[in-house]
Amino acid sequence: MEYDCIIIGGGLSGLAAGIRLSHFGKKTCILEKHSLLGGLNSFYTKGGYEIDSGLHAMTNFTTKGGPKSAPLAKLLRQLRIQHDELELREQKHSLVSFPGVSLKFTNDFEFLKSGIQDKFKDDLEGFVKLDKLLSSYDSLNLSSHFVSARKIVSEHIRSPLLADMLFCPLMYYGSAVEDDMDFAQFAIMYQSIFKEGFCRPAGGIRTLLDILEKRITESGGEIRRNCEVRKIISKDGQAQAVELKSGEALYTRNILSSAGYVETLSLCDRKPADFTEIPRGQMAFVETVGLLDSPLAGYESAIIFFNSSEKFHYQNPLDEIDCRSGVVCCPNNFQYLPSDTPPAPMIRITVLANNRLWSEFPHDEYKKLKKDCSTRTLSIAAKFTGVPGLTERIKLIDTFTPRTITRYTGHINGAVYGCPGKIKDGRTHIGNLFLCGTDQGFLGITGSMLSGISIANLHLLK
Ligand SMILES: Cc1cc2nc3c(=O)[nH]c(=O)nc-3n(C[C@H](O)[C@H](O)[C@H](O)COP(=O)(O)OP(=O)(O)OC[C@H]3O[C@@H](n4cnc5c(N)ncnc54)[C@H](O)[C@@H]3O)c2cc1C
Repeated sequence: MEYDCIIIGGGLSGLAAGIRLSHFGKKTCILEKHSLLGGLNSFYTKGGYEIDSGLHAMTNFTTKGGPKSAPLAKLLRQLRIQHDELELREQKHSLVSFPGVSLKFTNDFEFLKSGIQDKFKDDLEGFVKLDKLLSSYDSLNLSSHFVSARKIVSEHIRSPLLADMLFCPLMYYGSAVEDDMDFAQFAIMYQSIFKEGFCRPAGGIRTLLDILEKRITESGGEIRRNCEVRKIISKDGQAQAVELKSGEALYTRNILSSAGYVETLSLCDRKPADFTEIPRGQMAFVETVGLLDSPLAGYESAIIFFNSSEKFHYQNPLDEIDCRSGVVCCPNNFQYLPSDTPPAPMIRITVLANNRLWSEFPHDEYKKLKKDCSTRTLSIAAKFTGVPGLTERIKLIDTFTPRTITRYTGHINGAVYGCPGKIKDGRTHIGNLFLCGTDQGFLGITGSMLSGISIANLHLLK
């Protein structure tokens, strides 16, 4: 038996691609090495609580019946998912908090604009021009090359503080590059976060994963869990089969891999000549999840992107973690309906982490370090949320490190956003082996699903 397409990875990009291909009658099989689907954005149970392993928020909120061209609307249409099925709840508001100044934003872009008018009056005109440029920019051009967003933003925004405040959320939610971004990626993230904004499925990531899995099986696609691909077997520049950890070989006309660029090439029996020179991803994070004794009454921010130093640094830290900047998320601060079952009261804090240091520690030291880091990051959350006695109200703590990311998803260096150089057209040195997801370049939950759909449409459904 031969498949039309084998998809490596049951994360969001692989699942979206699988639905698209199955809808068009392609014999498709998704191979996921773990027992759970979702990859970087899955869920698990601890202390009797179901916890989302990644989800802070989905980006690109659009209302039901909103513009048909909105990325989320397109995505839902292509996957034949009804808007209502996701039960999306909008954020209350979010903040970018820097020393002495903060900018509040909601899913209404005018709110951010008026904050900039109040606090950075001299830069309003430049900001409006930048916004216009970003709106018309062809950010989805799959053949474009890296253009420095720092350079273009500095041509419009004179205040380095405002520029940093705009970069901070966009980098934390989607940059594999230190201290700069590809302008196309900046444009995508700007639209995703500032123009369209944050929402959350009322039931967390599981709601989305259940819908995706159902669509695949309904349309005849196959999902095999606990199936790790060990090798991609090729002949004359064409992939022919994958070999599983169990030794079983599965034959296929095409392979779509969401495992990452270098990770996928590592599986190939024939590697490209420049394999060892491809820059590996470095941007890794530590995230602490603290379950609270009760909801934080009076605290309304869904997400705070904070920076406490004079200049914002988005770099691979020299120490285990860099607490100068980061993200504090309260999944309870979305506009849930009385009929919803909201998530357990919780606070999540993400800071930059040095993967190399985390990977070197022996087990006992690693555990101790995790504990130290969670204490440090929780005290940051207490500072930025301003909630009195926050740390004393935590009843259960869990911490993900770069080591956790590598263990559960195979991403080299625990690099959540993959390699700095993206393969936008998804092509590899093997004619019928394509990439989708993280290293194709569309990041985040919405982005990775769009990536799966775009690459399936481009190479496998023509
Ligand atoms: C802690 C954290 C929080 C996040 N929060 C958010 C958020 O709030 N909002 C947002 O939009 N984005 C968030 N993200 C980012 C988002 O989760 C990712 O961008 C997105 O899920 C990437 O999906 P993907 O399909 O490209 O890759 P992955 O999720 O990495 O999927 C790849 C899959 O391939 C599997 N795999 C790898 N190698 C093999 C192999 N050899 N054989 C079989 N299977 C294999 C892996 O197990 C994995 O399931 C977060 C990420 C993290 C880590």
